Amino acid sequence: MVVIMKRGTAQAEIDKLTNELIAKGVEVSPVVGTDLVILGLVGDTTKIDDNWLEANRNVERVQHISEPFKKANRMFHPEDTVVDVCGQKIGGKRLAVIAGPCSVESEEQICGIAQEVKELGANLLRGGAFKPRTSPYAFQGLKYQGLELLKKAKEKTGLPIVTEIMAPHDIEVFERDVDLIQVGARNMQNFDLLRELGHIRKPILLKRGLSATIEEWLMSAEYIMAGGNENVVLCERGIRTFETYTRNTLDLSAIPAVKKLSHLPVVVDPSHATGKWWMVESLARAAVAVGADGLIIEVHNDPANALCDGQQSIKPKVFGELMEQLRPIAQALGREL
Ligand code: PEP
Ligand code: MN
Repeated sequence: MVVIMKRGTAQAEIDKLTNELIAKGVEVSPVVGTDLVILGLVGDTTKIDDNWLEANRNVERVQHISEPFKKANRMFHPEDTVVDVCGQKIGGKRLAVIAGPCSVESEEQICGIAQEVKELGANLLRGGAFKPRTSPYAFQGLKYQGLELLKKAKEKTGLPIVTEIMAPHDIEVFERDVDLIQVGARNMQNFDLLRELGHIRKPILLKRGLSATIEEWLMSAEYIMAGGNENVVLCERGIRTFETYTRNTLDLSAIPAVKKLSHLPVVVDPSHATGKWWMVESLARAAVAVGADGLIIEVHNDPANALCDGQQSIKPKVFGELMEQLRPIAQALGREL
């Protein structure tokens, strides 16, 4: 339920109504836009009488939200949310480009790739330290040592770190060392992890689950936001379909859908979506054209010998070419790269 206040309502009146609503047992999230003040109500709103609210002379309108996600809903927050990751904005006019290897392998590898992608225009560095692998015998990542190497790459390049968390017990370390905490597709419905991430204020990159509907994905964002952490960036990374030619099927229609339903920024991962390096450029172009706020792309200096996902990793040279191709597309949409 949202309460839209009349333009120019005095703050004291807004506070008074807020306290009355809290006394009725609901949580009130005020959103102060450029010219509107909206009070978003969560909790058991059945106790709130529409007629009582509409009788308040400062209330313009009351609207009910039929979707189960509230804080993630665009009705709660009509303006686009811009998430700030160490000064790099995700969701504004400028597109965010997150690039780097699937996994951190060595100091030389992560620092070298970080330097190259930075020079070619990336804004943030990705690299997995804790890897969710299908096989328990596959490389599981360098774990805490991997985080240390990411920190070295950040020191050398200034690029903020994006890396995946798998377990709630690592939150303290991630909160200290990581700039944008990634929740992978396999953990999108790990509700204990999501709830815990709601208690911190670090930005979260929430990947869409392997077979998650858009509503389930937004409900996972809601889990994080319900705890008070509203710094959520969504990531479409392809979903399971009957098609086996590609690793997943990139759901490009999810981008405009999510933009309509939610105020949260959304980025696209064409690497995991296709599983094929030579498809990454065309789908990255399509993602920007369809309105994504950014991209997360796997880049490796030696894909043939990568410890994880070499087949879908592009070389720095191809990444540089892609950045050039994306520029006019972004410009045509009134955005920057
Ligand atoms: C990754 O980004 O390396 C990854 C494992 O992605 P996803 O969770 O989308 O499969
Ligand atoms: Mn990967």
